[in-house]
Amino acid sequence: MPTIGPGPTGVRGRFAPTPSGRMHLGNVFSALMAWLSVRSAGGTLVLRIEDLDPRAQDRTVAARLVDDLVWLGLDWDEGPFFQSERGELYDSAIARLTAANLTYPCFCTRSELHAATAPHASDGTYLYQGTCRNLSAAEVTRRSKRRAPATRLRVPLAKDPAGTITWSDLVFGPQREVLARECGDFLVRRSDGVTAYQLAVVVDDALMGVNQVVRGRDLLESSARQIYLARLLGFNEPCYAHVPLLVAPDERRLSKRERDLDLGSLRARGIRAERVTGELAAAAGLVDRGCEAAPSELVGSFSWDKLAAQRGNIVVDERFLHRLLPLPR
Ligand code: GLU
Repeated sequence: MPTIGPGPTGVRGRFAPTPSGRMHLGNVFSALMAWLSVRSAGGTLVLRIEDLDPRAQDRTVAARLVDDLVWLGLDWDEGPFFQSERGELYDSAIARLTAANLTYPCFCTRSELHAATAPHASDGTYLYQGTCRNLSAAEVTRRSKRRAPATRLRVPLAKDPAGTITWSDLVFGPQREVLARECGDFLVRRSDGVTAYQLAVVVDDALMGVNQVVRGRDLLESSARQIYLARLLGFNEPCYAHVPLLVAPDERRLSKRERDLDLGSLRARGIRAERVTGELAAAAGLVDRGCEAAPSELVGSFSWDKLAAQRGNIVVDERFLHRLLPLPR
């Protein structure tokens, strides 16, 4: 299949936030690293709002997210693009996969899936057992009357080399994943009609000419599915850089639920943006701890080698918080 999208002209990176709440420190860390990587290479940055899920389609939340990026000193060159406005592009990619007999309808309910297998810890991925892979046409018709199906992509059997994906991550180094063992046939469209993240992200990155994907470590394993989809659709494969996660001292991820560390709360407390970006840059090994630094002042000290030397989770402990929040908490 032909390659679609602009050819690479220098680094083209992206911010791809999901507007499900206010940005927290982990999102800020990923955004800062994506920005520094692009700006230090003189490249182009695209802003894409990942509002596929109807629950993420509140434009006020998206506007606050955009305002937080500006407050942090992070700018972009193209966008914002909204995934909720790009449904036809995803539909046509799914239609191409379906025409090539690479998809099938899946009628499994959420509880059936959960009963059959335990999700992996990091990103909620589970190994699909192939329950609906070989349903007869008559069975599909019969079940479709009762329930709208999801759409799954067939992945090659474990022994087929096409289903073993190898790639090199700029931070985490060489990776290898056998799709049939890690996730099995995966969703490209949910049963409620919403396009699956894996499909949308591949279509968007390709059509937006993105050649460098920077995001949190929790999505490292998704890369194999995305590379496989890009190959099937004839797209260029981007390079990947997964950045460490920010975690609480007990290694739990700092999530959007920990409201006291989201940007709404930090801004309300009068914390300066330079303090936030300086402390996160220090955690990445770019500058000394405890200094304030705007993103534009960090461009010269950025390198992926420094990040690669610091792969472990970034622990947001009392000392970190004390440097970030010098006021009484
Ligand atoms: N939208 C995802 C998030 O906010 C990121 C997806 C990606 O970078 O591929 O976590």
